Amino acid sequence: MKLAFFDAKTYDMPGFDRYAAESAWEIKYYETRLNEDTASLAAGYDAVCAFVNDTLNSAVVNRLYELGVKVLVLRCAGFNNVDLNACQGKLPVFRVPAYSPYAVAEHAMALLLTINRRTHKAYIRTRDFNFSLQGLAGFDLHGKTVGIIGTGKIGQVFAKICGGFGMNILAYDKFPNPSTGLNYVELPELFQKSDIISLHCPLTEDTKHIINADSIAMMKNGVTIINTSRGALVNTQDLIQALKAKQVGAACLDVYEEEGSFFYEDFSGHIVRDDKLVRLISMPNVIVSSHQAFLTTEALDNIAATTMDNLNRFFAGDPNPATEVRLQA
Ligand code: NAD
Repeated sequence: MKLAFFDAKTYDMPGFDRYAAESAWEIKYYETRLNEDTASLAAGYDAVCAFVNDTLNSAVVNRLYELGVKVLVLRCAGFNNVDLNACQGKLPVFRVPAYSPYAVAEHAMALLLTINRRTHKAYIRTRDFNFSLQGLAGFDLHGKTVGIIGTGKIGQVFAKICGGFGMNILAYDKFPNPSTGLNYVELPELFQKSDIISLHCPLTEDTKHIINADSIAMMKNGVTIINTSRGALVNTQDLIQALKAKQVGAACLDVYEEEGSFFYEDFSGHIVRDDKLVRLISMPNVIVSSHQAFLTTEALDNIAATTMDNLNRFFAGDPNPATEVRLQA
């Protein structure tokens, strides 16, 4: 069996090679992303493996179907980049619903601690023998209120981590889960009372730009916003305005609305043409990481194991209902 693997990075390969060898899959790693121009590279392959910034619109889905690709396996949890209507009846889609909620939740806390205690700046200063503390003051997380939007696997782990820091936790979820024991409130109350807001919901029509000028206007002055979910949960232009006006005190962004053109690639020798991204990165109270919250050895191993299991079960006629992505009724 042959798998065409798009947007491949060197850190993907060891795990996938190991699990593929166990089940006699041949993997062709393509560095290029999957899109209208590259879909034909899947000719002759039984399956396609894609990641968060691959394009799976109806043109690409139809092309893969014409080429005889039988199944699409996503090596990620989110599937907002897939046109599920186009896939219906043509291309079954599987994903990795959970690979390490700890990886993402711990990264969210890492970003919060970094931006708050300025460890990224202290590191650079002391390497230059500059031992001044000017401008490095943060605030205690203990006793602060964190608002968590989306209390699924990652949101719940993040809540536990915040609990360990002695923070008060407010939660909002479209489908509250009483078994979490979290204090659920309506969104406006969460916006009004939180010192820190962390996004852990999926990107849907409901949640697109959930952080915008109107929601920011409800928030405390100086609020810190963390987004490790999907870029388009935040209206970037509104966030920049609020950062400039000091309404928002800090932003920790592992994802960005237009990240597809930049993230995972090295632009260090280039003029980056995205003015919003450049503006964000220029601000001392903003930290941007390149959609890396998932990147732990445990998560990479789970991603490879689940993806190869999704393939093996599909071709054995026993598809895993827990990992199949279906259109909502
Ligand atoms: P999950 O499905 O376990 O939890 C998502 C939660 O969001 C659920 O409780 C759901 O009820 C809730 N939700 C759905 N619609 C909502 C709405 N309109 N408003 C508020 N809450 C809503 O998912 P998870 O594993 O916790 O992952 C959460 C998100 O994290 C994913 O959708 C993905 O976008 C993102 N993610 C990012 C990375 C990364 O590397 N940065 C890695 C994995 C996942």
